[in-house]
Amino acid sequence: MRIDIITVLPELLTGPLDHSIIKRAQQKGLVEIHIHNLRDYAFDKRHTVDDYPFSGGGGMVMMVEPIDLAISDLKSKTGYDEIIFTSPDGEMFSQKMANQLSCLKNIVILCGHYKGVDQRVRDHLITREISIGDYVLTGGELAAAVIVDAIVRLLPGAISDEESALTDSFQDDLLAPPLYTRPAEYKGWKVPDILLSGNDREIEDWKIEQSIERTRKLRPGLLDE
Ligand code: SAH
Repeated sequence: MRIDIITVLPELLTGPLDHSIIKRAQQKGLVEIHIHNLRDYAFDKRHTVDDYPFSGGGGMVMMVEPIDLAISDLKSKTGYDEIIFTSPDGEMFSQKMANQLSCLKNIVILCGHYKGVDQRVRDHLITREISIGDYVLTGGELAAAVIVDAIVRLLPGAISDEESALTDSFQDDLLAPPLYTRPAEYKGWKVPDILLSGNDREIEDWKIEQSIERTRKLRPGLLDE
């Protein structure tokens, strides 16, 4: 898979995408992540990428031309399945969407900044708009990092214990069961007996029961889906 991210603040992305599973997935060649500075596509000497809104009011708007140049440049070298824009009014990001996106070959993610982007970018260049939640961030970089992290850990081989990604919360519309590790008792706080029983079948049943119970208690809406 190949992910190209267009941003005015590359520094915000290099850190989050250069550690742990995401770093290893890149080293293993499962994913190529390319971060592009939008300012490299600015056409004036000062590398301006924003301007005042025609509608007045505070804040700056990212201009259509540098973004068009950036996306056209990428498209001239690679075919993309989706050109994604991160936006608080976009489709809500979910595990389902992460699964779906992880099956694509090449995607672009455009990070907004300031007040947002010129609407013509969204009308003519973007194929999908994604929000990571009903709140407003300073820029789309953290949203892009969240989206990329959720996608990349799903790529086959990214997580060494294959089963581990499939048994995470939301994969089957259920929350994950509770986890325990050694010691079996700490300050009198005990691990459930069943987990020490060595009976794999009963442990599997217990995990499913716990998942259903937790989902019923914490996220009953998931059970209706
Ligand atoms: N004026 C916009 C918010 C701009 S925030 C509005 O009222 O909707 C600046 C940029 O941060 C946005 O263009 C978007 O790219 C990003 N952003 C902010 N909140 C986000 C969210 N919840 N999900 C995804 N991207 C977000």
